[in-house]
Amino acid sequence: MKKVDIVIVGGSAAGIPAAITARRHYQDKTICLIRKEERVLIPCGIPYIFGTVGSPDKNLIPDGVLEKNDIELLVAEVLSLDKENKILKTSGEDVQYDRLVLACGSEPVAPPIPGLDMDGVFPVVKDVNYLSSIQESLKDAKDVVIIGGGFIGIEFADEIKKSGVQNVTIVEIAPHCLSLAYDDEFCIEMENHLISRGINIMSGAKVVSIAGEGTVDTVVLEGGKSIPADVVILGIGAKANSDLARQAELELSADGAVAVDRNMKTSDDSIFACGDCATKVSFFNGRPSALKLASIATFEARIAGANLFGIKRESVGTVGVWSTAVGDLAMGTAGLTEAMARQAGYDIVASTVDSSNRHPGGMPGARGTKTKLLFERSSGVIIGGQVMGDVAVGEVINTLSACIQKKMTAEDLVMFQTGTHPALTASPIVYPMVNAAELAIAQMK
Ligand SMILES: Cc1cc2nc3c(=O)[nH]c(=O)nc-3n(C[C@H](O)[C@H](O)[C@H](O)COP(=O)(O)OP(=O)(O)OC[C@H]3O[C@@H](n4cnc5c(N)ncnc54)[C@H](O)[C@@H]3O)c2cc1C
Repeated sequence: MKKVDIVIVGGSAAGIPAAITARRHYQDKTICLIRKEERVLIPCGIPYIFGTVGSPDKNLIPDGVLEKNDIELLVAEVLSLDKENKILKTSGEDVQYDRLVLACGSEPVAPPIPGLDMDGVFPVVKDVNYLSSIQESLKDAKDVVIIGGGFIGIEFADEIKKSGVQNVTIVEIAPHCLSLAYDDEFCIEMENHLISRGINIMSGAKVVSIAGEGTVDTVVLEGGKSIPADVVILGIGAKANSDLARQAELELSADGAVAVDRNMKTSDDSIFACGDCATKVSFFNGRPSALKLASIATFEARIAGANLFGIKRESVGTVGVWSTAVGDLAMGTAGLTEAMARQAGYDIVASTVDSSNRHPGGMPGARGTKTKLLFERSSGVIIGGQVMGDVAVGEVINTLSACIQKKMTAEDLVMFQTGTHPALTASPIVYPMVNAAELAIAQMK
């Protein structure tokens, strides 16, 4: 049996940074990362396999990073966990650990819709061969239906449309696509953009069944309407893969994820968990959070990896920051939306600024941007931000996330010292996040 100081199960967004962090903090320890797949996909790049990138083979995480950090790789499936004797039984050799990190990720949710088991219906599984089989099915497809209009659904829709499929339809049960993370004005803008790119949107529509003779031919909606479909993609969400933890009788949360504390420690002192398989709590109220993102997985991994032989870091909970892009329209969100904040009972001030991303507005690459900030009225603390515009949105929203995490006030934002340039940013005179904060302060008086 192999004996290793630190074992990580999982080789993706959580497992790799957990192993690297462990190496940085514990240089004299032996580290082994076990994963079941030969080749690991970049999970967030999966939609782009179907259009822009063109193949799962071009969307892989290189193993060099493990080698460089003196991390042994064992490609094997972990079959069981014996926490008393600290032994993992695998499809290869068995491994004994001193500290263990579970980074086993998630699996797609399959809603109780009759017909989901038909040929041509695909949940999004993070596996190279499986995704190649979806690509194969799409080659002759004329009608594709995407169930779920979250960021995965819209990215899939646009990429599949780009690949030449004639009819691509998103069916979303909520009133708008993306409405779990953006306020309506942002969602509507993205829906109109998708429509302008030839994608059909059916929001506020519920799929009740999938019909066909063994192979899907129709998606049936509540009310009886049906949509032709050669291929159906499910972009509905993911659930924690906590099989090993359950079998080892580690504590699980109500939603079935591996229960962890703020140090990412499980109910066993020698076992940590991070990423999609682990429980999450909201930064705002400490309540359970359903968010599953690669960026969350990596920050949790940096906590787990550092804490293995002594607590050094703790999680403040998930702020909830992420972005998406369709063609030249990018959108980012951090923290609470206006709808979420009102529902949670916050007394808020919201301010929105429309501006250009360049100055003067005639500069090459200039386009309109929208920035919406939310502040708690009594404290002036920023609790949310949404941004729409060009690719810069991806980093602007990260700046806003830092402001939220540091509980900056509108006054702090107004005092923000920005670097600006005509060819790169908005004008310093009307810098959007500063301007939006000023407008909010005016409303607070
Ligand atoms: C299509 C798509 C697009 C996405 N886009 C984004 C995005 O733009 N931004 C973002 O932040 N997030 C995005 N996400 C979410 C992101 O992919 C996940 O949050 C992230 O993959 C979680 O990483 P993880 O390491 O926790 O789990 P996973 O990526 O699920 O990896 C789990 C790992 O554990 C291994 N494993 C599990 N069980 C065993 C076992 N018994 N033995 C051995 N190995 C095992 C698996 O093989 C795998 O290596 C996207 C997700 C999808 C599906």
